[in-house]
Amino acid sequence: MREWALKWAQERARAWGNALLPPVCLLCGASGGHQPLCPACQNDLPALSAPCCPICLEATPYGERCGACLVHPPHFDRVFALYHYVFPVDRLIHELKYSAQFALARRWRQELATRLVTQPHRADRILPLPLHDERLAERGYNQAQEIARALSRATGIALDTQSLSKCRATRPQSESSLKERRRNLKNAFACQTDLSGQRLLLVDDVLTTGTTLNEAARVLKLHGAEEVTALVVARTPKHH
Ligand SMILES: [Zn+2]
Ligand SMILES: [Zn+2]
Repeated sequence: MREWALKWAQERARAWGNALLPPVCLLCGASGGHQPLCPACQNDLPALSAPCCPICLEATPYGERCGACLVHPPHFDRVFALYHYVFPVDRLIHELKYSAQFALARRWRQELATRLVTQPHRADRILPLPLHDERLAERGYNQAQEIARALSRATGIALDTQSLSKCRATRPQSESSLKERRRNLKNAFACQTDLSGQRLLLVDDVLTTGTTLNEAARVLKLHGAEEVTALVVARTPKHH
């Protein structure tokens, strides 16, 4: 059997195997629930709640703007995130990305959607942060797009997977310095639509330094977007 066929068969066998087993909490192994996490583990996830910068969510003493956003305001108008990107959220997001934990993905999408609909402002379109075709082929799906699709369903806001595209594959962000990251991202995104007056929700799984979302937001604003809100499952504290 060809290698890819073998891989495919193994994947299918694992998926069918998983479907037959009783649902088990991904973190503690408790059985019986129909959610990927048991209620105790769900409650223990590190939620973002402390006073923080209204734009980037960096912790600040009184909820005022952080220094970085005062000096270099980002192109996005604000960020919404559910969790800190620390254990066990980092592990769960890894699962979501590489082992196609669809039950978990669904749960998170629901949560993001619930949070989102409680926000007072509306948006005209939901855009997932695109993956380059090469990466998409490697991984088989774009997790940001899966989250965006659920949000669209839950809120009735139109899903737009066409306007923003990734024109070239960029190196993994974690392997490069901030300066390199900026250079690496130059002209990485393209926009094919006139977005004049549009309020956009830009969806990704994790906000690390914000460089990628910032560059995407810059391109969207260049094409007329009035407002760009970044929506992520988790964010890391800033490193600079
Ligand atoms: Zn548990
Ligand atoms: Zn800030």
